[in-house]
Amino acid sequence: MTREEVMKKIENRIRKCKACQLGNTRINAVPGEGNVYSPIVFVGEGPGEEEDKSGRPFVGRAGKLFDKILESVGFNRADLYIANIVKCRPPNNRVPLEAEVKACSHYLYAQIAVINPKIIVPLGATALKFFLGSGVDSITVARGKLYEWKDGIKIFPMFHPSYLLRNASKAPGSPKALTWEDIRKLKKMYDEFASSQKSTNM
Ligand code: SF4
Ligand code: URA
Repeated sequence: MTREEVMKKIENRIRKCKACQLGNTRINAVPGEGNVYSPIVFVGEGPGEEEDKSGRPFVGRAGKLFDKILESVGFNRADLYIANIVKCRPPNNRVPLEAEVKACSHYLYAQIAVINPKIIVPLGATALKFFLGSGVDSITVARGKLYEWKDGIKIFPMFHPSYLLRNASKAPGSPKALTWEDIRKLKKMYDEFASSQKSTNM
């Protein structure tokens, strides 16, 4: 089976899943989408209202800002993979409960195993906690730093775009200004992966 086929299977299981209570209130599950060969996987918290309606990740207001952040360095959404910690919308966009995260986590692990990325980018505190545990740095401290995870995969946390919507200042040192620094760093690493892949293919 190709990577695409394995991912399709995972997505189909997610769309039918009722393993936690979020499955009862969602309209559509949001498995994630993008390039299954991407060296970078972005991971948000969970679907919001627009994502629930469409079944696609990051398409609402936060998603529009996320697109702008990606486009600012020439990233194309279709080249990357974007997923969430929980695949179904928590009512009123509350933070997912630990039991919900736990029930859903095997899907994300399966997605990561298929893609085998070089870097995972947790967007915001919930995703950061999932990958690095709650004992480590807060998102404010952790963003823009590289952490070792497992299987040679590194973690590069960034602020959640919803947080940036609530903190609109672009002044030096503001979350927005820092995010523009982080995405430039990430693009640089991406370009390095791309060029080293080319040279090993020659
Ligand atoms: Fe299943 Fe995850 Fe949706 Fe819960 S959130 S129903 S575990 S897909
Ligand atoms: N916020 C998230 O964390 N994920 C989405 O897909 C949309 C908004």
